[in-house]
Amino acid sequence: MARLVLKFGGTSVGDIDRIRNVARHVKREADAGHDVAVVVSAMAGKTNELVGWCRQASPIHDAREYDAVVASGEQVTAGLLAITLQAMGVNARSWQGWQVPIRTDGSHGAARIQDIDAAEIVRRFEERQVAVVAGFQGLAPDNRIATLGRGGSDTSAVAMAAAIGADRCDIYTDVDGVYTTDPRIEPKARRMARISFEEMLEMASLGAKVLQVRSVELAMVHKVRTFVRSSFEDPDAPGMGDFDNPPGTLICDEDEIVEQQVVTGIAYSKDEAQISLRRVEDRPGVAAAIFGPLADAGVNVDMIVQNISESGDATDMTFTVPAGDLDKATAILEKAKSQMRYDALQSESGLTKVSVIGIGMRSHTGVAATAFKALAARGINIKAITTSEIKISILIDGDFTELAVRTLHGVYGLDKA
Ligand code: ASP
Ligand code: MG
Repeated sequence: MARLVLKFGGTSVGDIDRIRNVARHVKREADAGHDVAVVVSAMAGKTNELVGWCRQASPIHDAREYDAVVASGEQVTAGLLAITLQAMGVNARSWQGWQVPIRTDGSHGAARIQDIDAAEIVRRFEERQVAVVAGFQGLAPDNRIATLGRGGSDTSAVAMAAAIGADRCDIYTDVDGVYTTDPRIEPKARRMARISFEEMLEMASLGAKVLQVRSVELAMVHKVRTFVRSSFEDPDAPGMGDFDNPPGTLICDEDEIVEQQVVTGIAYSKDEAQISLRRVEDRPGVAAAIFGPLADAGVNVDMIVQNISESGDATDMTFTVPAGDLDKATAILEKAKSQMRYDALQSESGLTKVSVIGIGMRSHTGVAATAFKALAARGINIKAITTSEIKISILIDGDFTELAVRTLHGVYGLDKA
């Protein structure tokens, strides 16, 4: 028998009927004899409502009290699921973060998990008890509830899986797996059977929304085999309880992937903005003078392109920021213009970053050239390029997002099985 963590997101527990459906998934695994810990999110929309109430109460508020309020969403779901399971004859008990305890650091509102003492939960597996744990929360060193940042219950689930030595962490969500690209843009997108941790980390960081980025990092560090699957399917449909081959996508070590493709997926993120500083003085310390203040202000700078200057005295510096941060970034740069020593600032929003991802790129050449050629054939202009060992990111005009995604998906043969 195996040990499993099952995680259910907000839409999967959106109302009592859905919680009942989730309970049937849990019961199926418990009846099969597995040790089961469940991690739940707040019911869909609940966290937004709670955050809104904090803001209404006072636009500026104490992060500890924010945590006291927003952590309640998950606590409600955990209790409701335990009640539902008990009514179905499953021995279940709910756990709030502090009861486990899940210990975090002191960054209220954006805390990191430091340690989980799961001894009591594991002991109760012997009594065949299912643990239903509230996600998104833990106990800070000040003995107060801390929350992990939005989307944090994925991280709770992976951390719990590492703590109890689970064979797998099943993330049940509103999609049935990880796709080669967004199926809403490219209907020919295919569900992957497997994807490596590194590739998934790139996919999540570069725009795929299926998992919180931090949860993938954690899964990679602790080698937690993580499985993305749908909570909306009939829990008792054939194959759903198949331990070795359930329907969905396994995120795992690359060693577990036999047939490695060169390119595995295309991700995109809209709403990027580009800033160019013209004729930046070319001397040591200039990049630090530009990016230091942006970092201090919490502006997330992404692609950075600096050319080697011909004359040796001035160069151009181009970089991207989320469109929502453009005004803030511009204000900072204009204020500090004299220290930063540039001639002019130009910016443009409404851009998209499209990324080609695949571990096979490490050992194959020509992957980037293929992308550039395919985009050129469609008349799509490339504004900036960055690469890493396993990805190529290309900045384009946002109007071409769909066309670029479909073109790249096709050119690497991702629409063919
Ligand atoms: N309920 C929290 C949120 O909406 C955490 C989560 O669902 O992952 O951000
Ligand atoms: Mg989520």
